[in-house]
Amino acid sequence: YQVPAGPITKDDLGRATWTLLHTLAAQYPDTPTRRQQKDVKALVDLLTRIYPCSDCAKHFRELVRKKPPQVASGEELQQWMCMAHNDVNQSIGKPAFNCKMANARWGTLDCGSELACSMDGGH
Ligand code: FAD
Repeated sequence: YQVPAGPITKDDLGRATWTLLHTLAAQYPDTPTRRQQKDVKALVDLLTRIYPCSDCAKHFRELVRKKPPQVASGEELQQWMCMAHNDVNQSIGKPAFNCKMANARWGTLDCGSELACSMDGGH
């Protein structure tokens, strides 16, 4: 283990969080179970309250209130996540990402074996 070169910045945290969220959306099934739909909504909801950057959380809370997460299918969740990220991009002066490229950017995941990457249904 190497001592980190500096503090975790807001940008580091953001990149790590978006990696988790987009990767999760990319692996989310076409026909999610009720439990999976509930869990994704809960995850997003929790982030709007405990994301450790209060300005970010506040902004995200407003967005989620106006545009609640679309969790009925993988495609819906991927597009919602891209829209949400673009909303943040816009508010901090970053260019919009083309959501048609979301799958190319986030769709492949290497967990060592194909099975290891699949989403557990929660049983
Ligand atoms: P990031 O924006 O972190 O993106 C990482 C990669 O994702 C990009 O390189 C690109 O390949 C891809 N990408 C970019 N846009 C999209 C998209 N729309 N869809 C799919 N993939 C995409 N920072 C602030 O300063 N103020 C805030 O209020 C703020 N709120 C945030 C709220 C949340 C919920 C999160 C998770 C982060 C927030 N951040 C905020 C952090 C910010 O979004 C960025 O993560 C940070 O500025 C680092 O940006 P980056 O240019 O490295 O790329």
